[in-house]
Amino acid sequence: MLKATIGCEVHAELKTNTKLFCGCINEFGGAPNTHCCPVCSGFPGVLPVLNRRAVEYTVRAGLALGCEINGFSKWDRKNYFYPDLPKAWQTSQYDLPLCVGGYVEFPFDGQTKRVRLNRIHLEEDAGKLVHDGGVSLVDYNRCGVPLIEIVTEPDMHSAEEVVAFLTALKSILKYTGVSDVKMQEGSLRCDVNLSVAEDGAPLGTRTETKNLNSFRSVARAIAFETRRQIDVIESGGTVEQETRRFDDNKGVGYAMRSKEDAHDYRYFPEPDLPPVTFTDAQLDGIRAEIPTLPAARVKTYTEKYGLPAYDAEVLTADKDVADLFERVVENGIEPKKASNFIMSETLRLAKSSGSDDVELKVNAEQLYAILKMSADGELNNLAAKSLLAEVWGSDADPRETARRLNLVQSNDAGAIKQIFDGVIAANPKQTADFLAGNDKLRGYFVGQVMRAAGGKANPKIINDLLDKLKG
Ligand code: ZN
Ligand code: MN
Repeated sequence: MLKATIGCEVHAELKTNTKLFCGCINEFGGAPNTHCCPVCSGFPGVLPVLNRRAVEYTVRAGLALGCEINGFSKWDRKNYFYPDLPKAWQTSQYDLPLCVGGYVEFPFDGQTKRVRLNRIHLEEDAGKLVHDGGVSLVDYNRCGVPLIEIVTEPDMHSAEEVVAFLTALKSILKYTGVSDVKMQEGSLRCDVNLSVAEDGAPLGTRTETKNLNSFRSVARAIAFETRRQIDVIESGGTVEQETRRFDDNKGVGYAMRSKEDAHDYRYFPEPDLPPVTFTDAQLDGIRAEIPTLPAARVKTYTEKYGLPAYDAEVLTADKDVADLFERVVENGIEPKKASNFIMSETLRLAKSSGSDDVELKVNAEQLYAILKMSADGELNNLAAKSLLAEVWGSDADPRETARRLNLVQSNDAGAIKQIFDGVIAANPKQTADFLAGNDKLRGYFVGQVMRAAGGKANPKIINDLLDKLKG
């Protein structure tokens, strides 16, 4: 049976303050060509100055991913001509990258899957071409932004496996704090190398589909390219080694150019930059900057907070979400209550843009206030949810907002008892059934009282009244 074998090259932009070889600001957006200087615009005669922080970030990512760090690494020029690259070479690393080896482990198909990494090197990003109304424009704001390239071994065999790998990698990179990993803004992009061969036979000829910037796009491109290569082989043809692009709108891939080999880039050592060296003490310093990674946090959440493993995995998948959870729990919210609310309503809002990026638009103080009001019986579940949606994306004070929107629920036992008595009197048949043991009617009565109270009666008080009625 023909089987696909897949490896990835993942590019992640580092969130340093400035670019890799000049002092220009490293920031997404901005008017075109406003974050540029003679160095990153490729003027003749200028000299690069290495951003030390970018090197440290690369090493930090490498250590978090189990790589070996090369105590001596160097820079090379990768030569090619394209309008988004004003120097006509990319300063990259060829034979001595900063990090080698390493791996990513993640749960897949009921087992722990390990994808081996080949290397991680540091290089500069290129500019961006904007095609608009028949003309192509170039924006060099991104040119020279530090970029790490993470190259895997061909250890994967399906789209699902690749998406699971990317999810795990994205999570770890976000934890290390070296990259925003926002696929929507292009700070995380993936190239897919894929070949097809009979199971157990040597690998077939591979193609590379470049610059996929969503998980969905990665999965569709893999499905398309696997099918295409199988069709070529089954109809007696041969797969050509080539670089391809995937058109997300049309759902089809097409060949861009016949794939170049490394020698086509005429790599040679960069004469303008000295090699990078590390002492063990420097490496220890960088190692100390790695925060607690998801796997260790899962352990804390199940052991210290008593959460189910499922909750722990959902909460720790994204660092911002895990940090938020820990902050509200440290302030005294019961862990399972906090977990339920974050996993349902908070994550629903954070993922509502439809992208692969979690965007939390509530801070720990706001969430704590909502959960505290809920714990104190001032908000019922529904009101807590609408209050979160109301303060989402603003710095509004939840207490004030709840009062303004009249969401605070009544704990006035006397007033609720009065409404309750009215409901019981109006429903003699249901009351008799309930007293005869039909406990399903409990929900009916809570609903009736709640409706009469305008949705703001504390359901706990209503339930207590029902218990008392039963005697
Ligand atoms: Zn610059
Ligand atoms: Mn690259």
